[in-house]
Amino acid sequence: MMHQMLADFLSRSGDGYGIFNADDRLVFSNPALAEIFAIEPERLHGMSFEQIIRCCHQQQQGLKIETTDLDHWLLYASQRRRSVPFRIFEADTVDGNWYLMSEQCNSEGAILLHAKDITEQKRLQLALLQTEQRLKNQANTDELTGIANRRFFMHQAEKILKHQDRIGAKCSLLMLDIDHFKGLNDHYGHLAGDRALQFICEQIRLQLREYDLFARYGGEEFVIVLADIPAREAVSVAERIQQQLATHVLHYRQAPIRLQVSIGIAEHEPEQSLNVLLQRADQALYQAKAAGKNCCVVARASTL
Ligand code: GH3
Ligand code: MG
Ligand code: MG
Repeated sequence: MMHQMLADFLSRSGDGYGIFNADDRLVFSNPALAEIFAIEPERLHGMSFEQIIRCCHQQQQGLKIETTDLDHWLLYASQRRRSVPFRIFEADTVDGNWYLMSEQCNSEGAILLHAKDITEQKRLQLALLQTEQRLKNQANTDELTGIANRRFFMHQAEKILKHQDRIGAKCSLLMLDIDHFKGLNDHYGHLAGDRALQFICEQIRLQLREYDLFARYGGEEFVIVLADIPAREAVSVAERIQQQLATHVLHYRQAPIRLQVSIGIAEHEPEQSLNVLLQRADQALYQAKAAGKNCCVVARASTL
């Protein structure tokens, strides 16, 4: 009576159940397990664990077996099976379902396999991870221009300076401020100003290495940290940026808008703080503005 009830429940269960005997042959399986393996119930009965896995791998159906060396995969799996009385692991199928599997051994070496569908939980988990990643990116990115924001810059620049100190390398910080930007906003409107900010970032990026730290520091101010680049070489980078802007004009509603930037450069001095480096670059930028704009000035070495 109890046996009958149990058999009835198992045959209706959405969870997969199977029993492998000590020779690793499947001596019992319910319909849900046959579906997970994507093997006809009649055929599945009596198959060995190895045959089931080979079948899934060959047919590219049922359990997803991702390997280029199936023998090695089977060896690894057989080492894990029966290694402990009870173990839990996750497995997925070729059609994208996920299962929480458990294997319970008895004293004769038989295994009761139980598979619970956790596809929905996995989907939520993945969505949560993606949201977390997106929020992290948003927290580090300037919305308008898509480059790093000040918060991320401060964090990364500190790390770069420490690393440069440790390896005894010279690096430079560039502070850039768009010239006559207020006039641009007043003349063409705030939207044109926004487009100009995006355009300038695109143009500057073209003159930087992929790993250079480039961020929007404030409204129309940008900062760049050039690792391993002393000030005299940073001047060439600054001039290349100015040249790039001189030769590439933004077209906004058919109107050509010429953009230019003033740049202050400071070379990092050993053990100097980021704030002092920023102040020195800012003063150099101020001098570039005073010298007529669209030029770059290198900060003097700090007096000790
Ligand atoms: P200078 O040549 O001396 O640098 O003068 P400027 O006009 O560029 O500089 P100022 O500091 O006087 O003005 C900066 C302007 O930048 C003021 C502000 O309205 C504008 N601005 C700041 N952030 C944004 C933004 O996100 N979008 C737009 N459109 N304008 C911005
Ligand atoms: Mg400014
Ligand atoms: Mg300005």
